[in-house]
Amino acid sequence: MSTGKINVAVENIFPLIKKFLYSDHEIFLRELISNATDATTKLKHLSSLGEIKGDLGNLQIEVKVDKKAKKLHIIDQGIGMTKEEVQKYINEVAFSGAEEFLDQYKDTAKESGIIGHFGLGFYSAFMVAEKVEIITKSYKNDPAAHWICDGSPEYSIEKSNKKSRGTEIILHIDKESKEFLEENRIRELLQKYNKFMPIPIKFGTKEETLPLPKDAAKDAKPETITVDNIINNPDPAWTKKPSELKDDDYKSFYRELYPMQFEEPLFNIHLNVDYPFNLTGILYFPRLNNDLNIQKDKIQLYQNQVFVTDNVEGIVPEFLTLLRGVIDSPDIPLNVSRSYLQADGAVKKISNYITRKVGDKLNSLFKKDRKAFEEKWNDIKVVIEYGMLSEDKFFEKAEKFALYPSTDGDYHTFEELKELIKDHQTDKDDKLIILYASDKEAQHSYIEQAKAKGYKILLLDSPIIGHLIQKFEGSKEKISFSRVDGDTLENLIKKEEATVSKLSDKEKETLKPIIEEVVKEGGYTVQLEALDSNSLPFVLTQPEFMRRMKEMQQTGGGGMMGNMPDMYNLVVNTNHELVGQILNTKTKNKKDRLIKQALDLAKLSQNLLKGEDLTQFIQRSVDLIK
Ligand code: ADP
Repeated sequence: MSTGKINVAVENIFPLIKKFLYSDHEIFLRELISNATDATTKLKHLSSLGEIKGDLGNLQIEVKVDKKAKKLHIIDQGIGMTKEEVQKYINEVAFSGAEEFLDQYKDTAKESGIIGHFGLGFYSAFMVAEKVEIITKSYKNDPAAHWICDGSPEYSIEKSNKKSRGTEIILHIDKESKEFLEENRIRELLQKYNKFMPIPIKFGTKEETLPLPKDAAKDAKPETITVDNIINNPDPAWTKKPSELKDDDYKSFYRELYPMQFEEPLFNIHLNVDYPFNLTGILYFPRLNNDLNIQKDKIQLYQNQVFVTDNVEGIVPEFLTLLRGVIDSPDIPLNVSRSYLQADGAVKKISNYITRKVGDKLNSLFKKDRKAFEEKWNDIKVVIEYGMLSEDKFFEKAEKFALYPSTDGDYHTFEELKELIKDHQTDKDDKLIILYASDKEAQHSYIEQAKAKGYKILLLDSPIIGHLIQKFEGSKEKISFSRVDGDTLENLIKKEEATVSKLSDKEKETLKPIIEEVVKEGGYTVQLEALDSNSLPFVLTQPEFMRRMKEMQQTGGGGMMGNMPDMYNLVVNTNHELVGQILNTKTKNKKDRLIKQALDLAKLSQNLLKGEDLTQFIQRSVDLIK
């Protein structure tokens, strides 16, 4: 037996490990299983090169909990280590790795969001163990070695009589870490970090019932046998070639990833590059509808099939965090903070690649089957609109397939829409006026009015559309969006002949203050306009600009507007019979009543009549028909 001292200069390494990584002790298991996986993969590689002869046997990794003895075992059948290799790899290499990691980690510990804590490796065992043993036998013909270290820098190493090839790590779990002696806790960790690791991992056994043979007797009982309980799928779908997978394979992998998710994904995007960086993965579009508040942490990041995190912020663009699925890339640096990640050149390339692939996929779906794409539009538009808003490159791509549905249920690309309205929906400066509604029910009367005049009205109802419209108007010349209730159509769109007002200028001058006096409580700006005689006598409009500012404020951005009140214009239709009647009514009481009734009707058509005003309106209407 020999003993040694790991390195006097850093005597405090173990307390440091415990202290700095306090919240993430659980990653020790991932690190140890990663080492066991590496050792097994190396063995397979040597065997494929012919450097190891003979059958390798059923290569698997086993995790065992011995609650009574307070021990956790991780056993592999990999290449193992000779005594010299333990001295070198564990006492020197592993140790310097740990030291380096801690150095790095100390500086960034305060910055939140370090990914995963990869790199600490073998020494992370000391986060949960007061003593660690390694019993290992190399594939070479050397005797096995037994290394013991109790957390102080001293260790001992002696011969062992282990006969089989491979390494067994034994953790003597410390008092504060008793949770890692619970089978359920270990199972949970294996599920989280090792679910798709490439070497089968055995955790306990399970009973399996064998099917009865065809010629079995009637009263024969099916036989049950005990088999290894393998907790992982070593060949997850993303490691395969797209050509090997059918639609059903993608769907069943989705269920494997999200067992609690009952709805099927709409479609998937298979990522697969090996130059200039390495990345594989499968992204899924879930049904989103108008929901921006869905749980974002659904994309899982792996490195060589080892789970790292489900927070991919900084790695994929924000708008794609609405998607689900898996990304696996060894080229994403993990021992760094998020802010550093975003500035990293390789990560930027990865992020751009993913964005481009998503754009290409959407474009090909659109081209291949437009009808099916239209049917999905409502469920995917949030992602696309969000992407158009936040990524200029995606905006350019998306112009080909982004759709604008009308209130009639037909869909147009922007170019198609332009073509459709260019001859009759322009204002006096020849700007294209795109009319839209955000709510078919609430804006019904306005939509009908505009339709009656032959205009096309889009139905734009996603929560961020205001921002996108703003971007559109800023990036394209001569177009302007206007909600159907934003202004009167007469004001918005250039007419061949202006409608003549039935009231003279003098009459208008008399009428305006009378109406203003009655409606002043509501804070309306009164405007007299010659509208179609079949429009309402009074119409409420909400200036486009004000409404947008308010909406954008609610969905983030929009500046320091405080809590803006709603502002409405009261447009008095000088061509409506009732307006003439108001002017000609002698008694003030009756005049006021007509004005009130006309205002309430206008409010009613905007769904704004509520509370006491509504009660009074109903009472007045009942009086009228009595
Ligand atoms: P890393 O895995 O990043 O190299 P570790 O500290 O985890 O760092 O391990 C140091 C070295 O110890 C490994 O590179 C490997 O050579 C050796 N090692 C660790 N665990 C095993 C194992 N289960 N079987 C064989 N070698 C191992």
